[in-house]
Amino acid sequence: MKCVVFLDRDGTLIEEVGYLDRPDRVQLYPWAVDAIRALNQARIPIVMITNQSGIARGFFTEAVVDDVHRHIADLLKAGGAHIDAYYYCPHHRDGSVAEFAVACDCRKPGRGLVDRAIRELSVDPARSFTIGDRWLDVALARNIGGRGVLVRTGYGADQERHPPEGLVADAIVNNLVEAVSWILERSDETLGSGL
Ligand SMILES: [Mg+2]
Ligand SMILES: [Zn+2]
Repeated sequence: MKCVVFLDRDGTLIEEVGYLDRPDRVQLYPWAVDAIRALNQARIPIVMITNQSGIARGFFTEAVVDDVHRHIADLLKAGGAHIDAYYYCPHHRDGSVAEFAVACDCRKPGRGLVDRAIRELSVDPARSFTIGDRWLDVALARNIGGRGVLVRTGYGADQERHPPEGLVADAIVNNLVEAVSWILERSDETLGSGL
């Protein structure tokens, strides 16, 4: 059973631009390729987990999200890096598209997408990490018994100033590359238990 990094997208891997509705609005952070490649080299799988309620709200379709993820994959590939799986939650209970206007268990901090990774990729959540710019990314780590790193990019700096009661990040760092360094410093124990 593998240790995995569950990676947030907007504000963590790419610039936060609100509802991202076109691939050409994707902007990787300057350190993103290096950070992802470092995890690849350590043979730690990366699973993107992103809330995309813009689908339920009718702002864009699933096909757009797929195009965005294909574009991100191309940009990473050009730098010799890759993300192992791209999962998203299309739902929102207040959405306007009936198919997706439901209360689901896969919208973060719900663990539905992690459970999918457990089924499809034999992941050990307790040895896994989340990286994200919102407290809900840290809450996801709590919900799966893993460790959560908050980054200060995107909404992160603001989130850091408003910690929710009872929720503590395992680390708060400036950006994705620092989050990956933090994880790799702890990956001996991770690798030692049988990656
Ligand atoms: Mg985010
Ligand atoms: Zn969902």
